[in-house]
Amino acid sequence: MSVTKVSVIGASGRMGSEACRAVEAADGLELVGRFDMGDELGDLAGADVVVEFSVPDASAANVAHCVDQGVHVVVGTTGWSEGKLADLRRRLDQHPDVGVLIAPNFAIGAVLMMAFAEKAAAFYESAEVIELHHPDKVDAPSGTAARTAELMGAAREKAGLGTVPDATTSDPDGARGARAHGIPVHSVRLRGLVAHQEVLFGATGEMLTIRHDSFDRVSFMPGVIAAVRKVKEHPGLTVGLEHYLGI
Ligand code: NAD
Repeated sequence: MSVTKVSVIGASGRMGSEACRAVEAADGLELVGRFDMGDELGDLAGADVVVEFSVPDASAANVAHCVDQGVHVVVGTTGWSEGKLADLRRRLDQHPDVGVLIAPNFAIGAVLMMAFAEKAAAFYESAEVIELHHPDKVDAPSGTAARTAELMGAAREKAGLGTVPDATTSDPDGARGARAHGIPVHSVRLRGLVAHQEVLFGATGEMLTIRHDSFDRVSFMPGVIAAVRKVKEHPGLTVGLEHYLGI
């Protein structure tokens, strides 16, 4: 069995250190490099695949470096704007054999939650997302909430529903939170939490709740390892682990 060499960028972070442990424990994978802020990425320690869990401001440049080196990348860092994605697609055009997966959430349950929410979105005019995370999280709303809202918004548009209508009560302070893709999204930052999300759908006399909880960062690792194994079979840019899992 051939061994896949893996380097981790953001290796001493919360997700990166968990990813290093998961790679070391996985059959057929070898951890060859650990990189953090200020480290020269160079040839990425000879990796075939890089796992990238850094910070939104650094991720695009790190991924661009990997692509230029002809190395496949599994990206968990959030904060990828349409502009950054377009730049990455252009770069990948120059390296047609390289695969990059950007996954806002590697927990299989969260990927299923997003798929279920997308399915339900076509059936309810009223829908909201509540995402709850640890207080050190730098971005809000979370990448998972933004992606969920994007999938729900597209499903609603297809069903002719448009954006979720404003509540009839007045909201002079904008206290009901942000909107993403026409869906109201509420962000909670609380000690003790890891990563949690509820998607609520309401109609007269009923409510559907779809909820996923990551209690521990190990919940992300089966998805990360599956992605590391599959990324070279998917040249170009893929957004969302669901495309690798057939969900
Ligand atoms: P963290 O702050 O614990 O770790 C970030 C790491 O990145 C640190 O080790 C830091 O040294 C390193 N870093 C900073 N700048 C860098 C640079 N320029 N080059 C290389 N490394 C650099 O953060 P975290 O909690 O591990 O989260 C990392 C990212 O992963 C965040 O964007 C977070 O939202 C995201 N995340 C994704 C998932 C998912 O399933 N996709 C799950 C949880 C968190």
